[in-house]
Amino acid sequence: MSTDLQISFSGISLFPEMFTAVTEQGVVGRAIAKGRVKVDLINPRDFTQDKHRTVDDRPYGGGPGMLMKVEPLEKAIQFAQQKQPGKVIYLSPQGQTINHEMIKKLAQEQHLVLIAGRYEGIDERLISKHVDLELSLGDFVLSGGELGAMAIIDSVTRLLPEVLGHEESAVQDSFVDGLLDHPHYTRPEIYEGSKVPSVLLSGNHQKIEKWRLQQRLGRTWLKRPDLLKQRELTQEEQLLLEEFQSQYVE
Ligand code: SAM
Repeated sequence: MSTDLQISFSGISLFPEMFTAVTEQGVVGRAIAKGRVKVDLINPRDFTQDKHRTVDDRPYGGGPGMLMKVEPLEKAIQFAQQKQPGKVIYLSPQGQTINHEMIKKLAQEQHLVLIAGRYEGIDERLISKHVDLELSLGDFVLSGGELGAMAIIDSVTRLLPEVLGHEESAVQDSFVDGLLDHPHYTRPEIYEGSKVPSVLLSGNHQKIEKWRLQQRLGRTWLKRPDLLKQRELTQEEQLLLEEFQSQYVE
């Protein structure tokens, strides 16, 4: 094992090839190439015993839909845990909705086992026996847990030390300090008649930082007032927000 390895993920999925969307490009792809992150994909189908490699089964009590077959899924979980014990997460619409604080906690772990369900989900007894945490992408239903597992791999990886270069630092990202990010502009200076705010062209870094902080406060007030309720503001932040509010026209 590389001494630089910071976290490994075991993704348990009937569609492991989906994970290439994060493992073969961008931030996660680079972190894997540098040996900071490892992603092992485990397919319950590889733990089937029958000729047809069956991975689904009918639900007791009848009704539409199938469930993931118990034995292959349990063997896949045990296989992941046997290499290195880790927190087991089942991606589920019934789980807690993922947020930045949870991702920060997960980024402290060394191994995460991510179970992506399919069909109507997985047998309740497997949840009781093996799952430490159920996490959801939100109050809607996906066809499978792979997108959620990939979201965790991506968002955890960007928080690991030295994974992001300076130019893509996560320090000012939304939620990092309880506020949304400020607006961003790039060239051209005038686009379809709309100008970049002049402070950003001033070269005065103190003024720019102050403007950005005010925008972060104002945006959070406008778009996510619930976040502001959970955050104590300094006196300077309070004044900046009040100024933003007094200038705001709908
Ligand atoms: N019958 C399940 C229910 O209503 O709770 C939904 C099953 S869903 C069709 C199939 C799989 O997709 C689930 O086992 C879960 O792994 C995943 N999934 C669906 N919605 C999700 C969400 N909002 N967040 C995370 N995973 C989700």
